[in-house]
Amino acid sequence: MKSKPFLSTNVAFCILHSAFLIFFSSCECNKPKQPETVNTKPETLTLPVPNFNADSAYEFTAAQVAFGPRVPGTPAHAKCADYLVAKLKSYGLPVIMQHGEVKTFDNKRLVAKNIIAQYNPDTKQRILLCSHWDSRPFADQDTARKNEPIDAASDGASGVAILLEMARDLQNTKLGIGIDIIFLDVEDWGQQEDSKLPIMKDSYCLGTQYWAEHPHVPNYFASYGILLDMVGAKGAKFYQERNSLSYANDVVKRVWDAAAHIGYSDYFVYLPGGELIDDHYYINNMTHIPTIDIIQYDANSRSRVFPDYWHTHDDNMSIIDKNTLKAVGQTLLQVAFTDVNL
Ligand SMILES: [Zn+2]
Repeated sequence: MKSKPFLSTNVAFCILHSAFLIFFSSCECNKPKQPETVNTKPETLTLPVPNFNADSAYEFTAAQVAFGPRVPGTPAHAKCADYLVAKLKSYGLPVIMQHGEVKTFDNKRLVAKNIIAQYNPDTKQRILLCSHWDSRPFADQDTARKNEPIDAASDGASGVAILLEMARDLQNTKLGIGIDIIFLDVEDWGQQEDSKLPIMKDSYCLGTQYWAEHPHVPNYFASYGILLDMVGAKGAKFYQERNSLSYANDVVKRVWDAAAHIGYSDYFVYLPGGELIDDHYYINNMTHIPTIDIIQYDANSRSRVFPDYWHTHDDNMSIIDKNTLKAVGQTLLQVAFTDVNL
C-alpha cells in the first residue's frame, strides 16, 4: 500500500437488524420437574465470544513465512495458496479460488489468486473481512538486498493468520450473519518510490481491483468491510486511518469501541493517522462497501507513516508478537459475535 492524499466521498450505509434467540436448557436433578418454558423475548442477541487463540495465529503466520516469500508466480506462492485453501476447507467453509490476469507497473503479466471463504453463504446480511496474502517482491525501503523479496511476516502473513484463526473459531457456530473472508493477491507489487519508470497510477492492490470488477457473487454487497494490513508486529499502534474515517466512519467507531470495551485501547488509538491507498480504497470506490483499514501507523518512523520494518528484510518472524495478534483477533471476534445489528 502507499500513502497518498486524494479526494474522498462519504458513503452512508444501511442499518438493518437481525436477532438471535438462544435457548438454554439446564438439568437440575434435585428440583421437581417444571414444565418447559421458552423465553421468546428478543433481548438476548449475542452468542458467547470465543477466546482468540494467539498461539494458533502465530503458528499460522510462521507457516506462511516458512514457504518463503509468497511472490506471485513463484512455487512458494502456489504452495501457500494450496495451504490456505486447505485450511479454510478444513474449517468447513466453502472456498472459491478466483484467478484473474493482472499487469504490474513493470509490465509483468501475473495471475492473481484471490481466495474467498464463505461463512453462511446464503445469508443476505454479510460482512467482509480481508487481508492480502502476497509478499512484496522487493525490499526497496531496505539498505541491502533491495531487489530481493521480503518475508512479509507482518505485511501480509499476520492479517491472513488472524483471519484463518477466526475461520477456525467460526466452526460449529450459528451466527445470524454471513461472513466473507477474502485473501487478496498481488497487493504489494506496486511501484517503488525511486522507480525510474514513469509514475503509474493504481499500481498496488491489483488483486483487489480485479475482485472489485469481478466479484465472486454477482452484485455482491456486504454491510461493511474490515481490511487487516501489518497487524502482527510488537508494539503496533492502530490509529484511525483517514480514508477509513471518510468512507466508513461508523465502522471505525464500531471497531475502536469494541477494542476499548475489551481492554485494547492501548493498541487501537482514538486519533487519526495516515491516509492510505490500500485495498480498502478500491473496495470503497469500486463496490461502495464501507470498508476500513486496520493498519499499523508510526509517525516517528523514517517514512513518518509506516513502521521502519515496512518493505525491508526486517519484516520477518522476529518482529511478530502474539500480544498484537491477540488484540486484533479478539477485537474482530468481538465485533462479529456481539455487534449483530448490521
Ligand atoms: Zn506492503
